[in-house]
Amino acid sequence: MNEFNIIDTFFKPKAAQSESDIASGIRLGVGDDCALISKSSDLDLAVSVDTLIEGVHFPESSPPDLIAHRALAVAISDLAAMGAEPRYFTLALTLPHADTDWLAAFSGGLHEAATQLNCAIIGGDTTRGQNVSLSIHVMGDVAKDQALLRSGAKVGDKIYVTGPLGDGAAALAYLQKRLTLQDRDLGDYLSRRFYKPQPQVRAGLALRGVASAAIDISDGLLADLGHICAASDVAARIETKRLPLTQPLLAQVALSHLQQWALSGGDDYQLCFTVAKKRQSKLMQKLAEAEFSAHLIGEIIPPGDPLVIVDGAEDLNLKRSGYQHFA
Ligand code: ADP
Ligand code: MG
Repeated sequence: MNEFNIIDTFFKPKAAQSESDIASGIRLGVGDDCALISKSSDLDLAVSVDTLIEGVHFPESSPPDLIAHRALAVAISDLAAMGAEPRYFTLALTLPHADTDWLAAFSGGLHEAATQLNCAIIGGDTTRGQNVSLSIHVMGDVAKDQALLRSGAKVGDKIYVTGPLGDGAAALAYLQKRLTLQDRDLGDYLSRRFYKPQPQVRAGLALRGVASAAIDISDGLLADLGHICAASDVAARIETKRLPLTQPLLAQVALSHLQQWALSGGDDYQLCFTVAKKRQSKLMQKLAEAEFSAHLIGEIIPPGDPLVIVDGAEDLNLKRSGYQHFA
């Protein structure tokens, strides 16, 4: 079983939302980037939790301040995907031993990230265990009925991403020394992209009332766009040659390799979103105001198998499913 079968089989409620769920303020349950809970007459609280484990989500020996930054940024990316504004988080931290130098660096990085990302720590839990592991539970505000959902994409909608894809996979290859670079600036750029990904909060906020569906790209474009398709009961057609790539990487990595990373590598934390024809001019207006950037990569088509058709990828060796914990 992969993680998605596990969630569907054991954790997704079998029945549609019940009246008591609604009465207790659950506006959206399992299945999107965040759940939504009614907070006041005009606001919902978006909530999500993400876990990072040493050796799985970051290399052992990663600098502790950077581990903290990455964990918070990755968690906030799910708020961005809902069009929510980050507010608070809690941190559950598991450590093999209490190394005060490590803890000082970690907490310094955490507070710096919290300030930069405008999200305040309000609690947590500290435990001893074999490996370093962190769970960050984030909460953010979103105006009622304004959240961006995975469902909502319609046939004919255009598909966009907010920035270059493939950097996350390239960065991991670089940190694991599978990719050697002559260009030191590029190495620094990739390290920053890995440890300090920029959650697309401004894009998410600007896309409320514009995008018909949205998701953040954590597992890879094919897998995550596939989640939009499944939730919206549609399919997608994208064009490989339209994928935005980091140009300096092309001097170091073959185009086909980078395209492969862009399609099925993970850890990019850009948003993928869809926009109906009648909202295109509103999107252009937002882009002109330079709140964020967007790259057109394809179009939503009627449902079918596969969920995502990739034009111009005949020579690529694609993993359609993206990263899976139990594959
Ligand atoms: P993301 O990549 O956006 O963090 P995931 O793929 O981890 O989302 O999860 C998909 C959906 O399943 C989310 O709505 C998440 O809250 C839910 N989910 C994941 N694991 C569990 C679990 N153990 N129990 C209940 N819901 C879960
Ligand atoms: Mg997500």
